[in-house]
Amino acid sequence: MQLKPDSLIKELQERGMRVTPQRAIIFEAIEKLNGHITAEEIFQEVQHINPYISLATVYRTLELLQDMELVTPTNLGGSQTYFAMKDHGPHHHLVCQNCGSIEEFSDALLENLRDRLVQDYHFLAQINHMSIFGTCGHCANPDSPNGE
Ligand SMILES: [Zn+2]
Ligand SMILES: [Zn+2]
Repeated sequence: MQLKPDSLIKELQERGMRVTPQRAIIFEAIEKLNGHITAEEIFQEVQHINPYISLATVYRTLELLQDMELVTPTNLGGSQTYFAMKDHGPHHHLVCQNCGSIEEFSDALLENLRDRLVQDYHFLAQINHMSIFGTCGHCANPDSPNGE
C-alpha cells in the first residue's frame, strides 16, 4: 500500500515509535474512515482485515495517538467519544440537543475567552476540540425558513 507523506505510520516512525502490524492496520482504518469516528467504528473496520485485533487494542492505540496529539477527542452527546485527525485543523462543535444537528465553529471564536482566562485567572486554557450543547436556529425558530 502506498503511504501518504503525512500518514500516521510515517509520523510515528519519524518520532522513533515502533509500528506493529496491528497498529499499522488500525492507522490505515482511521485514515480510510476519516472525519469524526468512534473506537467502535475503527474496530468494525479493522475486523475485516484482522479479526484478532481487539477493541482494547483499538482504545490503546487511540490513547497513544492522543498523547502524540495526532487525534483529538470530543463528546458530541451520547456515550461515544469521537476522534478527529489533527490535520482536520482546530475547530469545535455546536450540538443541537433537540434535533441532533452538529455544526462546526471556528477556533478563532475562542480567542477572546482564552485571553480573558489568562488576564483574569492566569489560567492557560487548553481548548482543543470542544462541543457546546444547546438549541440550533431551526429548532429555536421553527417557523422561519432560515432559522433566524
Ligand atoms: Zn470535530
Ligand atoms: Zn436543532
